[in-house]
Amino acid sequence: MKRALNFNAGPAALPQAVLEKAEKNWLNFNNSGMAIMELSHRSKEYEAVHNQAITSLRKLLSISDDFEVIFLQGGASLQFSMIPMNLLSEESTANYVLTGSWSDKALKEANKIGKTAVAASTKEGGYHSIPNLSDIKVTEDAAYLHITSNNTIYGTQWHQFPDVAIPVVADMSSDILSRPLNMDQFDLIYAGAQKNLGPSGVTVVIIRKELIKDNGKLPTMLNYHTYSSNNSLYNTPPTLAIYLLSLVLEWVEETGGLEAIQKENTEKAHALYAEIDESNGFYIGHAEKNSRSQMNVTFNLASEQLSAKFLAEAKHAGFVGLNGHRSVGGCRASIYNAVPKEHVHELASFMKNFRLNN
Ligand SMILES: *Cc1c(COP(=O)(O)O)cnc(C)c1O
Repeated sequence: MKRALNFNAGPAALPQAVLEKAEKNWLNFNNSGMAIMELSHRSKEYEAVHNQAITSLRKLLSISDDFEVIFLQGGASLQFSMIPMNLLSEESTANYVLTGSWSDKALKEANKIGKTAVAASTKEGGYHSIPNLSDIKVTEDAAYLHITSNNTIYGTQWHQFPDVAIPVVADMSSDILSRPLNMDQFDLIYAGAQKNLGPSGVTVVIIRKELIKDNGKLPTMLNYHTYSSNNSLYNTPPTLAIYLLSLVLEWVEETGGLEAIQKENTEKAHALYAEIDESNGFYIGHAEKNSRSQMNVTFNLASEQLSAKFLAEAKHAGFVGLNGHRSVGGCRASIYNAVPKEHVHELASFMKNFRLNN
């Protein structure tokens, strides 16, 4: 069987080695005579998997004891609501930087909970860039500043982070574990797993302990305290998704950790951006150069007709998932950690040949 040339935006490609390992253990996890999803979430076998996933994540991102690592369901989208529910009070304002559709949605949910302000936005220009850090203005009563570290739909990414005196909250759904991070710069990081971490079904939140308050008025399952005080085992967690997450984390470690992953991601992104830049306007990149994403490469061709022809021929050649998001059109290649560099080079060659023939 030949693996597909998978450039899906999410759910996305998983490392083949992870899928093979999961398959090997599928019917008989650790000689238990059961599949992982048949085990009790209170069993020793499952708890070991659960704790290993937390330990690996802590190690890879150098997360100190000042933070809790918790697992939830509801996707990154539920965090759009949980963050203001847990961090915003009647006396404070939630500050948002708008850099794309996901930050727009996060702001929209926060508006239902309390006071909000836009600290900076690149919406007017059509979300081609990340704002200059010096253009970010936070309100005096700010509860937190929310950013989206990688804009999956527009293909832009933050390459440095705001240095502000208030908590920084980052939606890292589409670039967590793609590069080393300095955790001192963040107070809450969240990510749906289905781009860089594993399958859909589990959401990771890394939160500074001092931000967790036992707010008894919140519904139990919407309160971070419920998760932090029960090791994310208050109710049944998505055990299969967390198992696969633990295998992906193991794979990242075996690949050489985040520095090695970053090096490979830089090389992969460069292969596609170099073709865009050399094409003399045949391919038109959406992102301004200094805001380019290493995870989602977005571009258009000169006309809608030519874009359609490109997408049709790419599909015929076996490339999957190159259509831009339904809200913006055009083309997008998502090249997360698990997309092999050989596949990215195949795409770059395909793009070059298409250009020369058209
Ligand atoms: C995919 C994505 C989301 C939405 O994630 P769900 O898990 O589907 O809710 C939110 N933010 C970003 C940056 C994303 O890429």
